[in-house]
Amino acid sequence: MRAKQNVPGRLASARNRRVGVGQGRAEASDKVGASLLAMKAGSGPALLRGRGIARSRGSEVSSERQDVKHERKDQPLLRPRSSSLASSDSRWMRRALRLARRAAAAGEVPIGALVMRDGRLLGAAANAPIASADPSAHAEILALRRAARRAGNYRLPGATLYVTLEPCAMCAGAIVQARLARVVYGAADPRAGAAGSVFDIPGDGRLNHRAQITAGIEAEASAELLQTFFRQRR
Ligand SMILES: [Zn+2]
Repeated sequence: MRAKQNVPGRLASARNRRVGVGQGRAEASDKVGASLLAMKAGSGPALLRGRGIARSRGSEVSSERQDVKHERKDQPLLRPRSSSLASSDSRWMRRALRLARRAAAAGEVPIGALVMRDGRLLGAAANAPIASADPSAHAEILALRRAARRAGNYRLPGATLYVTLEPCAMCAGAIVQARLARVVYGAADPRAGAAGSVFDIPGDGRLNHRAQITAGIEAEASAELLQTFFRQRR
């Protein structure tokens, strides 16, 4: 069980609005180009990363913002987010966006991630499956690996992962394995997102750990980066 809480404020304008590039079905027959352009038609190829581009099955990227707190018995279901938390979320997400731009410059799908704990940066990474010829080299996985190495512990209780796009099923699984306290993401991925859109792995009560999810932070910037990247590849 979980509750959603919409947060008012300057990002509220993004609510209930999807950042889409094309209207309707993509005209391109090109698999890559069709990625983000078929968004509103709901029939486009899914957005995948790295090698996924070639078999890209396109994705709708949504900038709708929401906070999802997974219910836990030991804490109140809903707690107002402080403005200082919201501003630090935006600050770290902008840093993740810089990593995403670095990925784009290297020809990778622009996604960036970082892991924070107690105000300290533990690990950061740009998406890199193509360069590393590694299907698991998503930004989240690389950032978690670096953070865990730095902490000397594969579990990272109390840590927060910031990532510019909603995590996929693999990364959401790693989030549970690492026992992260929180995940903050930018754009939603209604085609493949596993933190509430298609699956809700960090919120699934059948698993032995749940993480709090905050969605939609700097979502428009994140979605725009992805859209620009795929548009240029057409
Ligand atoms: Zn992933």
